[in-house]
Amino acid sequence: MPLSSEQQAEIAAQRSETHTTMRATAPGMEKHLYTAYPVLDHGFVRVVDYMGDDEAICQAARVSYGRGTKSVQNDEGLIRYLMRHWHSTPFEMCEIKLHVKLPVFVARQWIRHRTANVNEYSARYSILDREFYIPAPDALNAQSVINNQGRGEVLEGEEAQRVLKYLTEDAMRAYDHYEEMISQDGQQGLARELARMNLPANIYTQWYWKVDLHNLLHFLRLRADAHAQYEIRVYADEICKLVADWVPFAFKAFEDYRMGGATLSAGALDVVRRMLKGEEVTQENSGMSKGEWREFQGILG
Ligand SMILES: Cc1cc2nc3c(=O)[nH]c(=O)nc-3n(C[C@H](O)[C@H](O)[C@H](O)COP(=O)(O)OP(=O)(O)OC[C@H]3O[C@@H](n4cnc5c(N)ncnc54)[C@H](O)[C@@H]3O)c2cc1C
Repeated sequence: MPLSSEQQAEIAAQRSETHTTMRATAPGMEKHLYTAYPVLDHGFVRVVDYMGDDEAICQAARVSYGRGTKSVQNDEGLIRYLMRHWHSTPFEMCEIKLHVKLPVFVARQWIRHRTANVNEYSARYSILDREFYIPAPDALNAQSVINNQGRGEVLEGEEAQRVLKYLTEDAMRAYDHYEEMISQDGQQGLARELARMNLPANIYTQWYWKVDLHNLLHFLRLRADAHAQYEIRVYADEICKLVADWVPFAFKAFEDYRMGGATLSAGALDVVRRMLKGEEVTQENSGMSKGEWREFQGILG
């Protein structure tokens, strides 16, 4: 992960400072604060700030005056109840602010999550670094033959080498021209806001991304899922680890009800009831389409 020694020193300085506060802090999150965790070849995720903890969710649900009078077991039970019944607003009382470095094509998927606050590095004002995402050989896959929106087998041999060569050389060539165009050495120098259009989508950008816990869990539900593209999933996986340490009860309930759980339609539920009565149900007599039946079988394992 390409953090300069100055950037590392800034992070270390931030981590060496402590402040006294009356606010609740989450010990699990304090240990991660400001640290940059590597993702992909040049990216990272780091927590810049956060607000709230498991208790804050319970306080909000109870609209209590103080820390609340209930036991830890009651807190966990309450959080599970809230998660189970989609009582989501107490989760919105927790917030997290992340600093993320990510390839532009990943940022395009990420920015679709509209419920966050974003401030991105300005390529009108600043010069982008010569940093491009080049997939590791085991993440360089062929187009899937069963899923139009997915990957199949890993590319091999000469084809893999050629693809990696193109990705690297094209990125470097585009960056060379970018640098040449903005240079003010013996010429006017093209505006950075224009020159950047020549850069490929695997160049890295950075942003501050602030979101509440409810919407973060929605993001993680979609992006830490096996159907999400690998390059955004690895960021979501890293964030999952942070959230697990920040709000352990909420994250456990999320894993149980959302990540590991499933929603059944009325028709699917009817099929389960018929199966429990010993009836032999097939796709043909289930009332489900082939696709629905396949997904239903996937849920039942
Ligand atoms: C596997 C996968 C494949 C995808 N493929 C495509 C694709 O091919 N093409 C494509 O365009 N997108 C695609 N997406 C993006 C997807 O359609 C959503 O835009 C993205 O996941 C953000 O979800 P969201 O709108 O629920 O999140 P957020 O924007 O964070 O919103 C959270 C929730 O807030 C509510 N909300 C927010 N804003 C509004 C609003 N303006 N009006 C009404 N309700 C609102 C909705 O209930 C929403 O679910 C894909 C996503 C995934 C995970």
